[in-house]
Amino acid sequence: MQGSCWCGSVRFEVEGPFITSSFCHCTSCKKISGGVGTANGRARTEDITVLEGRDLIETFQPDEGSAKSFCRRCGANLFGGGWPEAEHSSVRLSAIDAGLEQKPEGHIYVRSVAPWETLPDDGLPRYEVRG
Ligand SMILES: [Zn+2]
Ligand SMILES: [Zn+2]
Repeated sequence: MQGSCWCGSVRFEVEGPFITSSFCHCTSCKKISGGVGTANGRARTEDITVLEGRDLIETFQPDEGSAKSFCRRCGANLFGGGWPEAEHSSVRLSAIDAGLEQKPEGHIYVRSVAPWETLPDDGLPRYEVRG
C-alpha cells in the first residue's frame, strides 16, 4: 500500500494487508482528526517504510496513551499506536492513497461517542473500549 500526507511531503509504504482495521471514536482521535475519530489499519512497525519526508514527521507523546505522528507542514495524521518505537503501529486510512483492499471491521472506544455524534448503522461490531 502507498500512502502520503495532505501536502505530499511525506510518502510511505505499508506491507499489507493490515492485521486488523477499525474506526476509533476515542477522545484523542476526535481531537487529532477534527471529527468523529480516526480510521486505522494495524501493522507491524517494521512493515511501514517512510520513503520521503521523514524529517517532517512530528511525533507527539501524550501523558497517557500512545504516541501519534503527523506531518509538521500540513498537519495530516499519519501513524499512531506508538510509531516508530512500538512493535505494532496504527496507520491512518486517510493517509493511504493506493493498494488498500480492506475495510474497517468494527468501531472501538464507542464509550467516547460525542453528544453531537451518531454512530453509523453499518452492522459492524461496537466495542466500549478495544475490540
Ligand atoms: Zn504534509
Ligand atoms: Zn482513538
